[in-house]
Amino acid sequence: MIFNDSATREALSERLRFYRELGIGEFYRRPVDESAWAQSGSEAESLSSPENPGPTSPLVQEPQRREPAAAAPTALPAAFHSSPIEESLIAPRKPFPAPPAQTPALPPEQHFAALKLIRDEIGDCTRCALAQGRNKIVFGDGDPNAKLMFVGEGPGADEDAQGLPFVGRGGQLLNNMINAMGLQREQVYIANVVKCRPPANRTPEPDEAHTCSPFLFRQIDVVRPKIIVALGQTAVTYLTGEKKPLSAWRGTVHPLRGTKLIVTYHPAFLLRDPNQKKHAWADLQIAMRELGLTPPARK
Ligand code: URA
Repeated sequence: MIFNDSATREALSERLRFYRELGIGEFYRRPVDESAWAQSGSEAESLSSPENPGPTSPLVQEPQRREPAAAAPTALPAAFHSSPIEESLIAPRKPFPAPPAQTPALPPEQHFAALKLIRDEIGDCTRCALAQGRNKIVFGDGDPNAKLMFVGEGPGADEDAQGLPFVGRGGQLLNNMINAMGLQREQVYIANVVKCRPPANRTPEPDEAHTCSPFLFRQIDVVRPKIIVALGQTAVTYLTGEKKPLSAWRGTVHPLRGTKLIVTYHPAFLLRDPNQKKHAWADLQIAMRELGLTPPARK
């Protein structure tokens, strides 16, 4: 397969560079049915590589729309609004406020509409001081039925301008991390602890995080991923209600709201210290094992 198009070539060499930084140097090609490829009309869809595992991947689903915009009205069970699962199952987390009680699991076809309800409830939010400086609320992005969810800290300038999480340089790196796992960004769900950009990209204040995180917990309850990957200290602190160094979290799987939490470095940190990428890759491989994804061949 020859790539004449320079954008595709550039994207491929960027991907290969990223794999090399992760310490992966050996690549293989699945046999490609060239006739099927010719019919698909899209090179990107048909690239045969470790990052595009084809229909055998347990996570391969039809890509879904990004923002839960105008969903067809779907009747959600009353329980979604009114009868959370036993409060007692969610331990209090002093000095962090208790997170909202877990809402019941919904059938997959209702996830999109349920996310839209949460977005509608956020509205044109002025619940905390972050509202003053924000341009767009960054609710979340990706597959409402994703098996894998990433949680970051809060929007930066690019995210604030576009209304989507992780679309700047850190987002590019996150996309590469997702691709290295053999997935496409559209197959995962991405959200943040706070949905508005903190001024000058500072860490969200506790009151801002506590005000906003209940919406994140509700997004988690709707999506019900098998694995949540917390990106960095702020994400794991507010997801768990426990302030411990990242090193105390990394390397093992932690229970969280009926799902499993894995912790790794924030992409912005990895951009500053690329030597840490191999450690982030080790964390992502834990997630891959949990999800039954096959790691790409290594040297
Ligand atoms: N950093 C984050 O934590 N989240 C984003 O969405 C972008 C950058």
